[in-house]
Amino acid sequence: MKLGRLRVNVVSDGTWRLDGGILFGQVPKALWQKQVKADGRNRVRLGLNCLVIQSPQGNVLVEAGVGKKCDERRKENYALNTGKLVSGLRTLGLKTTDVQYVTFSHLHFDHAGGATKYNRKREAVPTFPKARYLVQESCWNDATHTNERSRAAYESLDYLPLQEREQLDLINGDKEIVNGVWIKETGGHCRGHQMVVVNGASRTVAFVGDLVPTPYHISLPYITAGDQFPEETLEKKRQILKQAEEEQWILVFSHGYDVHAGMLERHNGRLSVKPVDLSKPDP
Ligand SMILES: [Zn+2]
Repeated sequence: MKLGRLRVNVVSDGTWRLDGGILFGQVPKALWQKQVKADGRNRVRLGLNCLVIQSPQGNVLVEAGVGKKCDERRKENYALNTGKLVSGLRTLGLKTTDVQYVTFSHLHFDHAGGATKYNRKREAVPTFPKARYLVQESCWNDATHTNERSRAAYESLDYLPLQEREQLDLINGDKEIVNGVWIKETGGHCRGHQMVVVNGASRTVAFVGDLVPTPYHISLPYITAGDQFPEETLEKKRQILKQAEEEQWILVFSHGYDVHAGMLERHNGRLSVKPVDLSKPDP
């Protein structure tokens, strides 16, 4: 989709499955299973959506998916079918050396995994050799000092090599990456969680990360059990969805499987998502 001098696209890194209890938090299964069916292991199929913004000042990648480094146990537990980001970028005519900026909603393995890859010596190195990687300092501090509750969601090889190879820029709060493309810190899902807002001339596109991971989560109480600060998620989500509805933003969902992006609609007081295909011109 063209937004003035910016071009935005969604590229998928593949699919995975996550336990429905973790995905929907305190919402009972009797309710969420009316919207989506779980598999025999109670897992729900999810997408791994990355946003690509091509601008005159450089190409920006938001999220890197899971990538290809995971061990067999993780592949099996999460039914990983991932590592498709680089070939997806190629369909847009972009090589890994063409990406100038990479940022993530946060550093959990399902968002930062593809930031690094194994080289021939099986060392983890940055996937995008010429990029600056922008990470909230608070997010970095938590990822590098995990505890018993957060540990399983991180893999340090996803992000430590960014620092070792001097491609890491720690930031604090909101920041404009290139003209019209803003990082907005939200917190909620974890410390330093951020969204990316693309202000086109006529249209705003917002990548909301795990604040609203799928279209199911536009319902306010649908907050993952993995959220570190669920009350903060609730208030941010309330505020962002209100603005998105009023200003008719296109929301991009980090884990939407069949719907990657959409606009909010209200029927009889109830909010729903009307899918938008970003590979088509602005509706
Ligand atoms: Zn996630």
